[in-house]
Amino acid sequence: TNAMRQLEKAAEKMNMDKNILGILQQPERFVTVAIPVKMDSGEVKIFTGYRSQYNNALGPYKGGIRYHPNVSVDEVKALSFWMAIKCATVNIPMGGAKGGVIVHPKDLSEGELERLSRAYIRKIWMLIGSDKDVPAPDVYTNAKIMNWMRDEFEKIIGRPDPGVITGKPVEQGGSLGRGTATAQGGLYCVRELAKRLNWYSSNIRVAVQGFGNAGANIAKMLNRDGYKVVAVSDSKGGIYRPDGLDAESIERVKLESDKLEAVYCEGSVCRAVEHERISNGELLELDVDLLVPAALEDQITRDNAANIRAKYIVELANGPTTPEADEILKGKGIVIVPDVLANAGGVTVSYFEWEQNVKGERWTEAQVLQKLEPIMVGAFNAVWDMSEKYGVTLRTGAFMLAVERIAEGMRKRGDV
Ligand code: NAD
Repeated sequence: TNAMRQLEKAAEKMNMDKNILGILQQPERFVTVAIPVKMDSGEVKIFTGYRSQYNNALGPYKGGIRYHPNVSVDEVKALSFWMAIKCATVNIPMGGAKGGVIVHPKDLSEGELERLSRAYIRKIWMLIGSDKDVPAPDVYTNAKIMNWMRDEFEKIIGRPDPGVITGKPVEQGGSLGRGTATAQGGLYCVRELAKRLNWYSSNIRVAVQGFGNAGANIAKMLNRDGYKVVAVSDSKGGIYRPDGLDAESIERVKLESDKLEAVYCEGSVCRAVEHERISNGELLELDVDLLVPAALEDQITRDNAANIRAKYIVELANGPTTPEADEILKGKGIVIVPDVLANAGGVTVSYFEWEQNVKGERWTEAQVLQKLEPIMVGAFNAVWDMSEKYGVTLRTGAFMLAVERIAEGMRKRGDV
């Protein structure tokens, strides 16, 4: 898989101990569960679920639960490995995990979805807990689902343990700042890049692919920092305006009409601005300084990598660049701030949620941001230094840094 190829590349560059590599080539524990759910029709359907606990040398396993028809053993394993790398890259005391259920959640009623979520927990409850394994939302799971799961878990163990799961509603122990954390972490990375490159933000043209939680928020934040966001897109396509777009106005109209329109709003009045309609493929190939993929995996591949004109890429999405594309972009001198670093603001604030739950605290949004910034800046610098020291890409640098930290944890507990 792509994940294992990235690991092997880092292993080669850092001359990794064969025993360590062997341990890191598979999850420590992988379970498959059959989940019976009584459907509204009275019929009982059996769903298949997984939990992959990749590595906990640095702390409790941590990683989201995905509900998707394409969930597979290999995907869940790879995602859990990336979580281990991500947590270690930003140096938070958490390991890597991931879970998933093969289901198209839009086909289920709300009641069926709740029964499925609770039944999944009844199959894995003995493996999780605030001190063991801490799930969170992922594709097609959300705060409401997390709260059903937390409730089911607490009923089984007979005591409160709100830190068993993160991404809960704020009123139920969720953390302030979680909603924008991924974009915020990405913004801190852009600011570090800007410092090193002496960027003057209003000269910098940015294209953002994906206008959801990660994409819309970073587009707004970049606007506020003075960057020229010239293109944004969603699943239906994109808009391009060389003079720059106003992400806040676009988001407002998108929330009202579910359409991505090139607009500029003043007060309550929004007017259309001149622009060009582009496809998602065209957005990726625009002549910009900074490209921010914030939608799906496998967007920059061997087929289009040669056409990428951005000089810098900050990966907010997970896995937007394939290993073949990575090589091509490296050859073109394009610098990628990799997903395991650029989008780690999300898991970092999840860790803050866990910490607040475990300690019985509630932090303000300002406190959350104050703690997030040094973590992201520290990680960015450590990855940058690693990449300079060994003459490798930032991605390989991040993997080397993370693997070294995990290996140290494994040595301390006597695995090797
Ligand atoms: P989201 O569902 O809020 O938004 C996804 C956006 O991508 C939507 O605007 C959608 O229209 C767009 N999109 C879908 N298909 C597309 C396509 N083919 N081309 C272009 N755009 C398309 O999701 P999100 O939470 O913003 O997550 C986006 C990416 O960021 C994912 O890869 C996710 O794994 C990653 N990520 C998110 C978080 C987080 O905290 N939200 C954390 C880490 C990583």
